[in-house]
Amino acid sequence: MPSVTISRHGEDRVRAGHPWIYRSDVAQPDATAGDLVEVTGPRGRPVGYALFSDRSEITLRMVSFGPEPPPAAFIRQRLDAAIQYRTSLALDATACRLVHGEADRIPSLIVDRYGDYLVIQALSQGIDRRLAEIAATLVDLLRPAGILARNDPRVRQLEGLEQAVEVLHGDVPERIEVREGAVHYQVDPWRGQKTGLFLDQRENREAARRYARGRLLDAFSYNGGFALALAPNCASVLAIDISEDAVTRIRENAARNRLANVEARAMNVFDELRELERTGARFDTIVLDPPAFAKNKASVAKALSGYKEINLRALKLLEPGGFLLTCSCSYNVTESMFLDVVAEAAGDARAEVSLVEKRTQGRDHPILINVPETYYLKCLILRKLA
Ligand code: SAH
Repeated sequence: MPSVTISRHGEDRVRAGHPWIYRSDVAQPDATAGDLVEVTGPRGRPVGYALFSDRSEITLRMVSFGPEPPPAAFIRQRLDAAIQYRTSLALDATACRLVHGEADRIPSLIVDRYGDYLVIQALSQGIDRRLAEIAATLVDLLRPAGILARNDPRVRQLEGLEQAVEVLHGDVPERIEVREGAVHYQVDPWRGQKTGLFLDQRENREAARRYARGRLLDAFSYNGGFALALAPNCASVLAIDISEDAVTRIRENAARNRLANVEARAMNVFDELRELERTGARFDTIVLDPPAFAKNKASVAKALSGYKEINLRALKLLEPGGFLLTCSCSYNVTESMFLDVVAEAAGDARAEVSLVEKRTQGRDHPILINVPETYYLKCLILRKLA
């Protein structure tokens, strides 16, 4: 097995439990793309074992810590453990994340379940090289009707991997029907965002049902995730998304679930919030679930002004006593930055606001406490005081 030496700094990071070693901490690796390598510190001390990338800034992704190599069947064992954990959660849904990369100790592998089908993503050279083995193991463990590799995310370019969508097992239809609580969706695993649905928000949609009532505004609605889950509790629902395609899906999903009180508009939320304010519209419940405004550190300042604007306008549109569920999925905007910006928005809106719940991504997307990068979704449920 090839061996790779890392710097003192890299060794300290690994000892603190972080699984990523950057290129700047790796000395002349004698390994090829995707190899499983032995990692040693500057004085030859064994640090652990990792998957090697010859292209990414993240050169090593640790798969085990300490002198013992991982067992030959480590991928199978970890897939099995990840699946068992999801089973133990007894989720009220037929779609969920089964494998969440680093948090399931299979770095950069995503496996999502949509009913009888699996959609997977291999986001590093090491996992890409093992994809056939991973698919065969998943077939053995779960007997899915089909497995689709959604290997089209841009991050694959950083690994020098091509972007492609292909069936790895069985057949995968254009649409898969899944259920989340009482809501039935048609999911497009081939072209939908992420792997088809925003599964990480499922528990926040559930939580929101405790508060939703009256007139609901669901801004950045995608396929209607919050709108459809909350519609039975509300008098009227206005769902907004900039994508025509997404809005068509909201309408189809509303009809499928016999929800007659859902109106969907293809609009830019920034414009529409301004327009709603101008026309004197008011809401009793508002959801803000924008895309990641800060994709990197350089865009944080601009992202914060975006978060401030939508939260300020939403708090103005919200009736006293109403609830605002507001999210940020930008890893680069930390929880405290997000809380600060929402507090500023409340100040500017002259609204007194209490924090009802502080939430994050669903439990099927676990956070590793030593890996801040795994904590990306912030979700605040706020109440505007009457
Ligand atoms: N709330 C959804 C997920 C939202 S993802 C759910 O629970 O499933 C973010 C969505 O914002 C995407 O569907 C994207 O099309 C939309 N979007 C991005 N920028 C937008 C803008 N300026 N105005 C309206 N929608 C936007």
